[in-house]
Amino acid sequence: MSNNNIISLFETILDKSSILKGEDLKSRFYHIWKTDIPLESICLLLPKNTNQVSSILKICNNYNQEVIIHGGLTNLVGATKSSDNQVVISLEKMKNIIEIDEKGKTVTCESGVIIEDIINAVKDKDLLLPLNFGARGSAQIGGAVSTNAGGLRVFKYGMTRNLVMGLEVVLPDGTIISSLKKLMKDNSGYDLKQFFIGSEGTLGIVTKVVLRLYQHPKTRYTALAVTNDYKKVLDLLKFMEDKISKNLTAFELLWNDTYKQMISDKTIYNKYLPDNYK
Ligand SMILES: Cc1cc2nc3c(=O)[nH]c(=O)nc-3n(C[C@H](O)[C@H](O)[C@H](O)COP(=O)(O)OP(=O)(O)OC[C@H]3O[C@@H](n4cnc5c(N)ncnc54)[C@H](O)[C@@H]3O)c2cc1C
Repeated sequence: MSNNNIISLFETILDKSSILKGEDLKSRFYHIWKTDIPLESICLLLPKNTNQVSSILKICNNYNQEVIIHGGLTNLVGATKSSDNQVVISLEKMKNIIEIDEKGKTVTCESGVIIEDIINAVKDKDLLLPLNFGARGSAQIGGAVSTNAGGLRVFKYGMTRNLVMGLEVVLPDGTIISSLKKLMKDNSGYDLKQFFIGSEGTLGIVTKVVLRLYQHPKTRYTALAVTNDYKKVLDLLKFMEDKISKNLTAFELLWNDTYKQMISDKTIYNKYLPDNYK
């Protein structure tokens, strides 16, 4: 099937503004840090709902067309790089927060919602989405699910896997699997969603997600400590666990080289600890 022919099939599903090709691809990129390199692809598709994702995948499956999925393009392993014989599907137009269940402490949203937008929306209801990492302002929830992202608060709340209660996924042949459950206590048969969490889009496209939320903590304290001995880092961690047990949400170790980079003249950070501790 020629590029033009497959694009004309996509035109039966999506409006023209949701199909980028030719010159339009020059303003697109495959990673947030590579904005100067134009995207290589047959076309970039911007579905607005699950049915459109399903119809696109049916076409691609019928014609053995390779597909690359774009979330927020923040992965650090080149997973969203494409070539000119591949079709790119971006979830960026699927960005609705569908429901915040304040009593059940869950949020249901489309997979293209930026993580920081979910964090802020639930914070307004005094709830916490503990998924938090440096790229949260660009990464999408579908990308986080597909990479089983971790982040700063894994220590207490676990990886993304621990936060996902339900998923809707479109399989490569276009079949929609919907398991948007909000139940904590659910032992009803196979837990299919686990296959898709961390599978980096190889098994299907995540289109909707139900996430578990927590009551927003009333207070938060941060301590910075410095040592020249790795064993003491472990001792400190054990000490903190003994003393404040489940309230310890994050524990991060910065090596001296990283710290020196952070406080170099090129950055805006103050030198808040000595960098030559003996
Ligand atoms: C500054 C910075 C800090 C980071 N910190 C962390 C960290 O602490 N912990 C951590 O785990 N990661 C971290 N990352 C890596 C990255 O942010 C995460 O992996 C993030 O979850 C990727 O989300 P994304 O939406 O950008 O996905 P993308 O980069 O767009 O895609 C990632 C993979 O998922 C697939 N994919 C995307 N969306 C979907 C979907 N809806 N359905 C199916 N497949 C999909 C893509 O094809 C690709 O294979 C960091 C990255 C940066 C730049």
